[in-house]
Amino acid sequence: MVSTTASQDRAIDAAVRAAEAVGAPEEAIALDEQQLAARIASPVFRCGVFFRDGATVQPARLVRALRREILGAGVDLYEETPATGIADGVVTTPGGRVHAAAIVVATNAAASGWRPVRRHVTNFGSYVVLTEQVPELLGEIGWTGNEAVVDGRMFLHYFRTTDDGRVLMGSGTGPIGFGGRVDRRFTSDAASAGRAERGLRRLLPGLAAARVERAWGGPIDVSADHLPFFGTVPGTGIHYGLGYSGHGVGPSWLGGQILASLAFGLDDEWTRLPLATRRVPALPPEPLKRLGGGLVRAAIMACEQAEEEGRRPPFAARAGAAVPRLLRMEIGTR
Ligand SMILES: Cc1cc2nc3c(=O)[nH]c(=O)nc-3n(C[C@H](O)[C@H](O)[C@H](O)COP(=O)(O)OP(=O)(O)OC[C@H]3O[C@@H](n4cnc5c(N)ncnc54)[C@H](O)[C@@H]3O)c2cc1C
Repeated sequence: MVSTTASQDRAIDAAVRAAEAVGAPEEAIALDEQQLAARIASPVFRCGVFFRDGATVQPARLVRALRREILGAGVDLYEETPATGIADGVVTTPGGRVHAAAIVVATNAAASGWRPVRRHVTNFGSYVVLTEQVPELLGEIGWTGNEAVVDGRMFLHYFRTTDDGRVLMGSGTGPIGFGGRVDRRFTSDAASAGRAERGLRRLLPGLAAARVERAWGGPIDVSADHLPFFGTVPGTGIHYGLGYSGHGVGPSWLGGQILASLAFGLDDEWTRLPLATRRVPALPPEPLKRLGGGLVRAAIMACEQAEEEGRRPPFAARAGAAVPRLLRMEIGTR
């Protein structure tokens, strides 16, 4: 994780302190400007923290490997089959109904308008751009260690290299959804892709000559406190897990263990985890969720942009960004 503004330094400090607090300081090693530059040279990186346990995966390959495994285990897999309705014991699809004692709803942003969970989650867009192959430029800025990086913004940039020498730069500044609807704004919002590219240019000016070849986006399921949650609709065999808040590739493995135990009705180390037992903070109902969330999003984005440009954020933006904290809500808290 890197900081590029004074206010982002707080996120770095918080990560280092959190690791110390749980007695694992070796898991979050503070990096000063020179130590950071030895890994990746950028004139805007101030300081950082190195998580030695980090890794990257190519998510499409992960999905294909999972598919191979479950087919190998003899599981019937029906792809391109949308569930159009769920009741206790029955899933409806366009071609027929499936009867099952246990049903697991793990459809990410598509579930965010579903009554049992909709007060705890909302959708935001996340967008990425991918450069052409630039291994020589990566060599010039010293980014040869395959580090995956995020900055300390709330609407963060996330970036990584690929095995074939490209850079992927993401921006969590996509639009906010309404009522759980997943529409084209989540997959074809040029403004959000533009912000990802501007992030690439600002954060890594040494890659100025790298052409962007692809851009894409999708919805993420943001929970009220940015942590995933798991549970069972009371009195039914319908279980759910969502709220990964744009960080689900690793944690959905843990989610799979929890959901498997819930589906088998077990009371074990997985179902007793706080992620499955805590009280999940609530968001306001629609249209307040969309209106309030949209205002706070715009205010925080204005603050973060001003800080990156070395300006003091305008008063209205600072006031808007402070609202969640005043209401003691986790969401939107920087
Ligand atoms: C642009 C972008 C970049 C991201 N970058 C990162 C990252 O760097 N690191 C990270 O950890 N996470 C990242 N994420 C988030 C990550 O993709 C998710 O957190 C993760 O995939 C969640 O896993 P899941 O199994 O809950 O949902 P998914 O992987 O989304 O799987 C849900 C499945 O449900 C299916 N589905 C939906 N509706 C229905 C229906 N009605 N009937 C049947 N099937 C249905 C979908 O087709 C999909 O296959 C990113 C997301 C986006 C959009």
